[in-house]
Amino acid sequence: MKKIALIGNPNVGKSTIFNTLTGKKEHTGNWPGKTVGNAVSSYIYNNNEYIIYDLPGTYSLISHSKEEEIARNFICSKDYDIALIVCDAVCLERNLNLVLQTLEITKNVIICVNLMDEARKKKIFIDLDKLSNILKVPVVGTSARSNIGINKLLKTIENFKVNDKHLKLEYSKTIENAIQMIDIKNTILNKRWLSIKLLDDDKNIINSLKEITNENYDNIDVSSAKKYLKENNILDLKEEISKTIINKSEEIAKEVIIFNDENYNKKDRKLDKILTNKYTAIPIMLLSLLLIFWITITGANYPSKVLYDFLFKIEDILYNFLINIHINQTIVEALIHGVYRVTAWVVSVMLPPMAIFFPLFTLLEEFGILPRIAFNLDKIFKKCNTCGKQALTMCMGFGCNAVGVTGARIIDSKRERLIAIITNNFVPCNGRFPSIISIITMFFIGFSYNITNSILSALILTLVIMFGVIMTFIVSKILSKTILKGMPSSFALELPPYRKPKIFKVIVSSMYEKTLKILLRAISVAAPAGLIIWLFSNININNINILSHLSNFLDPFAKSIGLDGVILIAFILGFPANEIVIPIILMGYLGSNTMTDFNNLIELKDILVSNGWTIKTAICTIIFSLMHFPCSTTCITIKKETNSFKWMIISILIPTIIGITLCFIISNILDLLL
Ligand code: GDP
Repeated sequence: MKKIALIGNPNVGKSTIFNTLTGKKEHTGNWPGKTVGNAVSSYIYNNNEYIIYDLPGTYSLISHSKEEEIARNFICSKDYDIALIVCDAVCLERNLNLVLQTLEITKNVIICVNLMDEARKKKIFIDLDKLSNILKVPVVGTSARSNIGINKLLKTIENFKVNDKHLKLEYSKTIENAIQMIDIKNTILNKRWLSIKLLDDDKNIINSLKEITNENYDNIDVSSAKKYLKENNILDLKEEISKTIINKSEEIAKEVIIFNDENYNKKDRKLDKILTNKYTAIPIMLLSLLLIFWITITGANYPSKVLYDFLFKIEDILYNFLINIHINQTIVEALIHGVYRVTAWVVSVMLPPMAIFFPLFTLLEEFGILPRIAFNLDKIFKKCNTCGKQALTMCMGFGCNAVGVTGARIIDSKRERLIAIITNNFVPCNGRFPSIISIITMFFIGFSYNITNSILSALILTLVIMFGVIMTFIVSKILSKTILKGMPSSFALELPPYRKPKIFKVIVSSMYEKTLKILLRAISVAAPAGLIIWLFSNININNINILSHLSNFLDPFAKSIGLDGVILIAFILGFPANEIVIPIILMGYLGSNTMTDFNNLIELKDILVSNGWTIKTAICTIIFSLMHFPCSTTCITIKKETNSFKWMIISILIPTIIGITLCFIISNILDLLL
């Protein structure tokens, strides 16, 4: 069994290679920093098992970022047989820095030059044999996303033998002499590399090396070597070492890379000028959001109806079948009008928009637009004393807030991470979109589906989202001035290259990884919730069902914030999953009466209006949907990610209090106006 450590700069295709080799589905996406922990899996090739570790991307092993530490510690641990360094063929020179640094620590290296297809497109030629000759380690070229070169890579790993003659960096004579002056007897580390680290006297690195190796370096005498360096004017060893590495990378790059088109980056820079320009960036971002919503709303409308009709035809068949086989009528009612009906609603209302929205969003991510959105919002987030990476977690929250909360791991600063987690709920997840869209359609647009109406709904939805985003800024600012005080971390967001996504692959993977996963979770919540709601609306106490008792109790408070008892109880019972809020509202209004067509918005509006809904109720319900406690899965995730009950409670209280306050103010203003 061989162990392989996958290392490389961020965004070079490590996770793609990991997934290709192991068949796993780790997150890949065109922006640096998404792999935060170590993913590990295995594969079998020619009857041999290989364990493979996907380490977070890092540019170097010299400084102190969390990613570098994880990667460096892993490489130093020697708990692997092969360090597979993945490089980006388009910017190989920069990647060679990491290669040279790794070769200083270990000789068990294979180099995989990935993204060869991108290099070819940009007319960049790389002489892989020459590179292998210079470095004296195996070099394989791949286009991992298209599976090209993977077989050769597998064979190279299988036949790998350590070569002691691999390239060793040569520093200036003074540094080399100083290294020679240090006498290290026993270590599992490379003696030369350890000497440099001891000379550099970087306490952080030395302490973590001690921990990894269980060795003690305190008795090694480095004082005379240090003195020698000082006497010879080497005052910043780290810089001297970096310079040597950079110069060597440049020298190797000159030997092995041929640029057949010097302007290969011109198009990308031109596009960047438009997408990150002061005046055009934000309007383009909003237009893209509008376009995505429009495609989602328009595209989901018809399939949603077809799916709904189909599922409700089955409902009748199932109902009759169960009655015919003499199952107790009450049980049949509970199963069909409770469990089945709510589940069918969730599936037909959620599946089509998710199936459209997720692939569209993944395409944006793969193409490289998402990190540019983060880049554009960086300045505003900095003004709120947080960082632009929060924009990326916000984008993930569009799909599912629990995913957004976990995604906040990409933020290094604990303070900024907490702010991102607490505010993530201000972007509505896919469970809330459909309800918001239905209310917008019923109360602000009209029922005939034409292009103007669908654009108008997308526009109102975009405004609702913008409102959530503005709230994110305001709450982030307030948090960073109060309970999470601090300055923004000085992290420069990097713009990844534009990469044309593989559309079919994106559709399949986002269906499989995101849509189905979230749908299954929603169904697993909707089914039991359906039963509970049915029981609540069919079990009577003093001739009134439980749901009415509860809603009557909440009614006065709910009315003061523009809702009513049924709506508020629906949000509370919808805690396990937001998708079930609308079905609960309907069941609450209808009591034990059954509804004929849940998906017919005209009938739905009639029911709502006859139960006292006005424009005010619609606006307040949309706002409350945007700003209330996160769903149970998100709450559990927050608790897990922050390791604290306190932050979970704060994440529940902040949006809820804001939602209630806003609804109260808006409902009173509307009472005066209308
Ligand atoms: P990591 O950050 O190094 O783990 O990189 P990922 O595996 O997440 O890949 C980064 C981006 O590059 C994703 O959008 C991938 O789809 C894309 N990608 C990976 N390998 C290739 C490749 O060989 N060719 C092209 N064109 N894109 C690739």
